[in-house]
Amino acid sequence: MHVGVLADCFFDPGTAACLKQATEAKGPLTALCQPTLCPNACIKPRHRPAWARSAQEIKSLLKEKRLSELQRNILLEELERTMTS
Ligand code: SF4
Repeated sequence: MHVGVLADCFFDPGTAACLKQATEAKGPLTALCQPTLCPNACIKPRHRPAWARSAQEIKSLLKEKRLSELQRNILLEELERTMTS
């Protein structure tokens, strides 16, 4: 098991979402971790504060009026994933 900020990782290379972006890696790529999309991720109550900070940061970014529609949609999708995790 690998301890993470947003989730712990029970790394299985066969299903690792992060490895789909970097096939030569042999271990978990925490910088590319997608805990809401990966079956190896285990989100526990102790990860809640980090998720709350992430949601707050996204809400703050959404206040920017110069965002393109694409940027705004990506942030809204990320916010939804953050709020339902
Ligand atoms: S995406 Fe995250 S949880 Fe999934 S295998 Fe990679 S590091 Fe682990």
